[in-house]
Amino acid sequence: MAQIHTHDVIVVGAGGAGLMAAIGAHEAGVDVALVSKLHPVRSHTGAAEGGINAALRSGDSWDLHAQDTMKGSDYLGDAPAVETLCRDAPEDVMQLEHWGMPFSREEDGTVSQRPFGGLSFPRTTYAGAETGHHLLHTLYQQVVKRGIRVYDEWFVTRLAVTDEENPTDRVCHGVVGYDIATGELAGFHATGGVVIATGGPGQVYDHTTNAVSCTGDGAAMAYRVGVPLQDMEFVQFHPTTLPSTGVLISEGVRGEGGILYNSEGERFMFEHGYAANSGELASRDVVSRAELTEIAAGRGIEDEYVHLDMRHLGEERITDRLENILHLAEDFEGVDGLEEPMPVKPGQHYEMGGIETDENGATCIDGLYAAGECACVSVHGANRLGGNALPELIVFGKRAGLAAAGADLGAARIDTGRTHRAEPCDSELPEAAGGQAEPEVVTDGGTTEPTNVVEAAIADEKDRIDRLKRRDSDLHHSDLRNRIQRTMTDNVNVFRTEAGIRAALDEIRDVRAAYADVSVKDPSSTFNTDLIQTIETRNVIDIAETIALGALAREEFRGAHWREQFQERDDDEWLKHTFVSWDDGQPSLWYKPAILEGEAGRYEPKERSY
Ligand SMILES: Cc1cc2nc3c(=O)[nH]c(=O)nc-3n(C[C@H](O)[C@H](O)[C@H](O)COP(=O)(O)OP(=O)(O)OC[C@H]3O[C@@H](n4cnc5c(N)ncnc54)[C@H](O)[C@@H]3O)c2cc1C
Repeated sequence: MAQIHTHDVIVVGAGGAGLMAAIGAHEAGVDVALVSKLHPVRSHTGAAEGGINAALRSGDSWDLHAQDTMKGSDYLGDAPAVETLCRDAPEDVMQLEHWGMPFSREEDGTVSQRPFGGLSFPRTTYAGAETGHHLLHTLYQQVVKRGIRVYDEWFVTRLAVTDEENPTDRVCHGVVGYDIATGELAGFHATGGVVIATGGPGQVYDHTTNAVSCTGDGAAMAYRVGVPLQDMEFVQFHPTTLPSTGVLISEGVRGEGGILYNSEGERFMFEHGYAANSGELASRDVVSRAELTEIAAGRGIEDEYVHLDMRHLGEERITDRLENILHLAEDFEGVDGLEEPMPVKPGQHYEMGGIETDENGATCIDGLYAAGECACVSVHGANRLGGNALPELIVFGKRAGLAAAGADLGAARIDTGRTHRAEPCDSELPEAAGGQAEPEVVTDGGTTEPTNVVEAAIADEKDRIDRLKRRDSDLHHSDLRNRIQRTMTDNVNVFRTEAGIRAALDEIRDVRAAYADVSVKDPSSTFNTDLIQTIETRNVIDIAETIALGALAREEFRGAHWREQFQERDDDEWLKHTFVSWDDGQPSLWYKPAILEGEAGRYEPKERSY
């Protein structure tokens, strides 16, 4: 019989959001454990470079931050979530400071803040160009200090959720984990709640700033037990990634004064009128489209990229504030940023959508919470502002941990699940042809005993893994993952056409059907990356389908979602969130209006220019 580890709160994922959720739950006085497929400090948060937004200075305020965020979101952020983020961020950033986070400082000792795209005030605090690395280490020290149990290199493969017909009647009692070192399957039973904090799904694309571990596992697992995924079509493409690898060159370079040039030496953001006021510091969606427009007009370099130049900032300032960028440009592109401009082009960077939650991290399933990039609370709407993901991790990670531990955070204003505000989808979308599965939920054997639910989930999972290992076929997960990455990069990128999205959807569904024949060649029990990546690939397929479906249905141009035939933002029809549910054996789309009513009135949608 498989072992079951019991804790009050189980946090899946140990990046910024997961560590903060565990600290929050611990502060509420419960027994909390972290379960993570990577060691915590190897989590992808460690790659974050540029900084954390928080209104800390006189002249700035949380409501200015909220206005910038609502505008950046193209008015698809929900005001209660945006206001919570902006109001809580200053205190939470100061808490990091008190825990020893080594923020960069001015001569007088105050914490430095730099300008970032789409911000009306320089409010991005940072630790050199390694902010995420220091954030992870600061939080992990707190986890160690508090004696929080960490199950690292445990890969969570599914949730243990009851099988009532209506997802909002289901209960999550824990998760199933696979010990990467031994191949052992075990259950993690949460008597209080499970927090999913598994990060983004960048591996859906082949040119991405995200690590190979970013396969959207938590979002796909939640989707398969009936939690809707929200606004998945809004994918951020960062304008400054290195062409050969997708490695990020931080927005901090432009924040410090870095300039973008085309092949004719023009400062195109200004000279071609893409952002007459903010230039390089326009919002990311604006700059990415500008670069690709320049390249398509024949003004790119080698028809592929543009130049980002920081030489004029001088060696002292660059090594003080952007030293890491010099190493990245040298190591991955062979370019000396002190002597030459750096080649850059847009690359997939961030998923604005994710698991639908309220401001307290709760999903529509009892006992199941989510925070961080895998969640959609929603603060980023149609476009995330740079520097707004890290405060989201700490603010909503903590809130989700507290809520899972039973702390009273007050009633949430955002409703989850198909409430009375839900609207049907009228678009004609291609039906999936077969190959669909029932929701991944389990009966509790007619008893109300939660551990039975966990045991049933372990048994299902054991069968699935045995089947993958026993199957005799030549089909390898990498063929399928490559097909998804190729079609998403070709067809559901910065510029989107109906024909392209339909082609992607056809390909995704072919791949889904083919997955039924995939096999794992490596029979071993220790560090079986073949098995792990095969399971991750299923998650990549599910996530790709939700992105493509949302993108096909949304017939407007909002934030990061550009459609060839629909060149205007359409507030009459589309001021609403997309939801994709897997609650009837098929993906189905529906909508809920965005919540624009804030504490001091409505955030009235305005033209979004920079
Ligand atoms: C290169 C780069 C630079 C960035 N710079 C900035 C910046 O300067 N400012 C900003 O605001 N944002 C930035 N972002 C965005 C931000 O860093 C991320 O959105 C954020 O760090 C994600 O944190 P997370 O905790 O949600 O996920 P992650 O840090 O990715 O952590 C996910 C965790 O989940 C675990 N996990 C995943 N799947 C499983 C599973 N199946 N079982 C068990 N464990 C699992 C992993 O082991 C990991 O511990 C940047 C992003 C990138 C890619």
